Amino acid sequence: MAMISDSPWRDDVALISSKPMRTYPRLFEPLKVGSLTLKNRIIMGSMHTRLECEPDGKERLAAFYAERARGGVGLMISGGYSPDAAGLLEPDAGVVDDPNRLDDHRFITNAVHEAGGLICMQILHTGRFGKHPDLVGASDIPASINRGRIPRTLSTAEVEQTVSNYANCAALAQLGGYDGVEIMGSAGYLPTQFSMLRTNNRTDKYGGSLENRLRFPVEVVSATRERVGPNYLIVYRMSVLDLVEGGLKPEEIIIQAQALQAAGVDILNTGIGQHDARIPTVAYVVPPAAWRGAVARVRAAVTIPVVATNRINTPELAEELLEKGVADLIALARPLLADSEFAIKAQQGRADEINTCIACNQSCLDGLIVGEDIAGCMVNPRACQETRYPLGPAPHSKRVAIVGAGAAGLSCAVTAFERGHKVTVFESQDDIGGQMNLAQEVPGKEFSETLRYFRTRIARSDIVLKTSHQVDAAELACGDFDEIVVASGVRPRSPDIAGIDHPMVLQYDDVLSGKKVPGGRVAIIGAGGIGYDVAKFLSEPAIESKIPTFLSVWGVDPKGLGDGGLVAPSPEKSPRSIVMLQRKTTAPGRTLSMTVGWVLRAELARRGVAVLTGVTYQRIDDQGLHILQDGQPKLLEVDNVILCAGQESVNALHDELASKGIKSTLIGGAERAEEIDALRAFEDGLKVAYSL
Ligand code: NAP
Repeated sequence: MAMISDSPWRDDVALISSKPMRTYPRLFEPLKVGSLTLKNRIIMGSMHTRLECEPDGKERLAAFYAERARGGVGLMISGGYSPDAAGLLEPDAGVVDDPNRLDDHRFITNAVHEAGGLICMQILHTGRFGKHPDLVGASDIPASINRGRIPRTLSTAEVEQTVSNYANCAALAQLGGYDGVEIMGSAGYLPTQFSMLRTNNRTDKYGGSLENRLRFPVEVVSATRERVGPNYLIVYRMSVLDLVEGGLKPEEIIIQAQALQAAGVDILNTGIGQHDARIPTVAYVVPPAAWRGAVARVRAAVTIPVVATNRINTPELAEELLEKGVADLIALARPLLADSEFAIKAQQGRADEINTCIACNQSCLDGLIVGEDIAGCMVNPRACQETRYPLGPAPHSKRVAIVGAGAAGLSCAVTAFERGHKVTVFESQDDIGGQMNLAQEVPGKEFSETLRYFRTRIARSDIVLKTSHQVDAAELACGDFDEIVVASGVRPRSPDIAGIDHPMVLQYDDVLSGKKVPGGRVAIIGAGGIGYDVAKFLSEPAIESKIPTFLSVWGVDPKGLGDGGLVAPSPEKSPRSIVMLQRKTTAPGRTLSMTVGWVLRAELARRGVAVLTGVTYQRIDDQGLHILQDGQPKLLEVDNVILCAGQESVNALHDELASKGIKSTLIGGAERAEEIDALRAFEDGLKVAYSL
């Protein structure tokens, strides 16, 4: 799509609407399951939001789900609720075991039904993953990701009681107004802990043979079916690829799927891997629909509808998976955080308006796990904040100037416009995007989708976008604006090192944008987020096909053969020799995100990228980069030194305005360069747009 420069928005609308409208006939084909008819094939997968722990949790959950119901999704699955205290994920998590404590659930299910949606409650017993002292398990085998907590082995009688607790929980969900339940039996939670030999060394009727190990999940389903009756929807989420040693073999997975169907499951949802597997399953490095093979194998072996999950983020891909018979339904979880209207936009031929989930995990998972915060979404900071940022116009429409069309400026512009303000955006470059234009070059990072979303939003709005326009204080002063927002971003830092002006020294923006192509031997100054991104960009081997390459380098058998579907990983080789450096003596890559950092570190280590810590930079000259490490001088003979040494704010305009007595609001990297990332930039944009 051509970018507009000083042009009225209507030209661009004509350009967009001239494209043929894509329809998704299979995605929007209704499906009858038991007594329910799902209006389409889109399921919102369960997400732990932690909203239930908030004082106004029921209102926030109701608003969150109702907005997604209005967005057209066929069926939603709630976050997980434990059937008993032992199964809690963390002490404050939700448990459903008391018929007198269903009012909050009724409040939520009523809101969903009034919005025209359907919702199942997920029953989640975390077993050995419980983050509390009273955790239990099939055996007393601890999880590597739950250090210091050893699960207590459930006695045979306690296992039978746990089965009955699941059934009781489902009956309470029915009373609470849910349209069905999903029994969570993947990702390494309790049912999986019974089915796999690596977590089950029992000698009673729940251990040993496959039949015995599957007894727990099968009894949970049979007991649930008996309690809820023949017409109540039971979804079971089953691990179709364990991705750990001692995981199920492919034939055992099929036996489990068939046994669950026979026990009374209506819909078989699928899950990939375990939380303690060392293979990424949902991060951006995983190619979209990478797990289709494992889902298709199970679908071929059962007659109930099967759901495809994990890294499916566009209606095109969802339609393709349905068309090719991989699955009957598609579960979208994070994509519905990113855009609550995913379904309705696809159905109305407005798929180009979808705010696509780019699998960054920064707010939905990292914030939740590390920050112990409620979940959110980087590209849609309103997610889980629907009551704080209600839709609708601002009390007064204002004329707003926004300087800078990077993440912060764009987020502010589209939100302010939606709230009824008259928005003009000034951008000095010839295109929108700022740092996102660089980030989209990093293999796997799908910021191009985010940029497409903003382009479409702007083109279909009355926002006046002035690209290639370096606005100054004088022009803004004459512009009759009520509010000025300065989102002018950051510039790369140039550290004070002798020889920094040597021609071999390149800035990261020139490298990622392709303006400069480094040679075969590279030193990267700075091992932060951008240093790692540049190392990934420069070390990426040429590949022919994404999914087979991803599976083979991470050691996943494409046919799912072997325990857990594992094979020996194929070697990967960087086309360049790369060394990253930092002055700190701390372990490198510690500032990277929790759920993606380990993946990047493993990937770069496999490619032979070295990282030196505790270095002192001495100088750069024709020989290369001279450093001191452990007090010893070292010469790194490289073709190029690439600077990834952080950034500095670009905010002179704010000062210039202030000197003229004109008030402006600084946001994003322009306000504070330290630790600026797209997450803070998008959030700043939203907050300021609501404060105007
Ligand atoms: P950063 O993460 O703060 O890293 C800056 C790096 O430069 C550090 O390794 C630092 O290490 C070094 N440095 C700082 N000042 C220096 C100086 N004067 N001379 C030499 N080296 C210096 O910043 P960034 O890489 O620019 O990333 C910006 C933000 O985006 C960060 O918040 C980052 O987390 C985020 N981001 C994250 C990801 C991701 O998670 N994948 C990707 C991209 C960006 P020493 O001070 O020890 O030398």
